[in-house]
Amino acid sequence: MELLRQLEQGLKDIDAQGLRRRRRTADTACAAHMTVDGRPIVGFASNDYLGLAAHPQLIDALAEGARRYGAGSGGSHLLGGHSRAHAQLEDDLAAFAGGFVDAPRALYFSTGYMANLATLTALAGRGATLFSDALNHASLIDGARLSRADVKIYPHGDVDALSALLDASDAETKVIVSDTVFSMDGDVAPLARLLALAEQHGAWLVLDDAHGFGVLGPLGRGAIAEAALRSPHLVMVGTLGKAAGVSGAFVVAHDTVIEWLVQRARPYIFTTASTPASAFAVSASLRIIGGEEGDARRAHLRELIARTRTLLKRTPWQPVDSHTAVQPLIIGSNEATLALAAELDHAGLWVPAIRPPTVPVGTSRLRVSLSAAHSHEDLDRLEAALSRAADASAAQEAA
Ligand SMILES: *Cc1c(COP(=O)(O)O)cnc(C)c1O
Repeated sequence: MELLRQLEQGLKDIDAQGLRRRRRTADTACAAHMTVDGRPIVGFASNDYLGLAAHPQLIDALAEGARRYGAGSGGSHLLGGHSRAHAQLEDDLAAFAGGFVDAPRALYFSTGYMANLATLTALAGRGATLFSDALNHASLIDGARLSRADVKIYPHGDVDALSALLDASDAETKVIVSDTVFSMDGDVAPLARLLALAEQHGAWLVLDDAHGFGVLGPLGRGAIAEAALRSPHLVMVGTLGKAAGVSGAFVVAHDTVIEWLVQRARPYIFTTASTPASAFAVSASLRIIGGEEGDARRAHLRELIARTRTLLKRTPWQPVDSHTAVQPLIIGSNEATLALAAELDHAGLWVPAIRPPTVPVGTSRLRVSLSAAHSHEDLDRLEAALSRAADASAAQEAA
């Protein structure tokens, strides 16, 4: 009982800080309009930026992949679980996203979390130094810890501070690691300047393009393509459960880097390969992303982003200067953020409240996440609900 009581006390502390997280259960496919916990809502919570998660062609591909290759892979990639669908997808990904390096090769993972653990632990070990942006995703933080490298954290986006840390380092192996699009702020890292530093200091530059792949750059090839970077120092991680609408992740880099991961990355080696059907469906997704339909979806998404920037600026709260599909509205305290999220929920809008430890204390926020599946009417509803909530909060302050 003593052990359980410790946990109960811990949970009470979480409640007291307004930090209890609750899962909602979707009764229907991820889409702009969906049923959640039995209620119809407009969802602004997903990372399904292109609205592909429920695309009929991807659903068909998943079913076809299962018919061809079965329900499960049956093993790890090195011990029997590597299927033709995985191999084909890796070729597709290298061709689609690997234009930043000569001899590109891709490696498919079951999740982005694993891809980040694998990349950082394989490239940086004891004696190496990892240079990590202060707002990097939790999976990069965990990968850095697991690597046992020395970790230097530089202030968010601060290239001068990073430069000083690199100057002061005599580590033989240096790895700079950053999100491209920051997941809770939507801003984009100074990619060209990061690469210049990586080249100057003989460092790897690992870029996690979870929120850029499919959305940014020509044909949705990602943030590295948008910035037109090219270098053998670059290692790109992309995820496939967000804009690509399915699941999994990949690393693309020079063939030698990928071969090193296959040999050495424990989070790659010691886990069962994902179902081949998901790889088969991602190959279908790449054809949509890189085709006319992808361009049309990205164009619509850009319109929605521009309009959301304008409407968030008209609220009394603090928008973040983001040009991506992640449009945060900083409220401040956990309580006020939860109250606003609850008001939007009453209006049938699902806009998640993001609190510490996901974001720094005092910067709790609503995270409006846009998808090409949203319509302008969906944004009309968001605008009306935010303006009602603003009036209510002004009236409350006056009282
Ligand atoms: C979502 C995300 C991941 C993890 O990817 P999964 O495939 O969901 O495990 C990694 N990095 C960033 C920046 C993310 O937003």
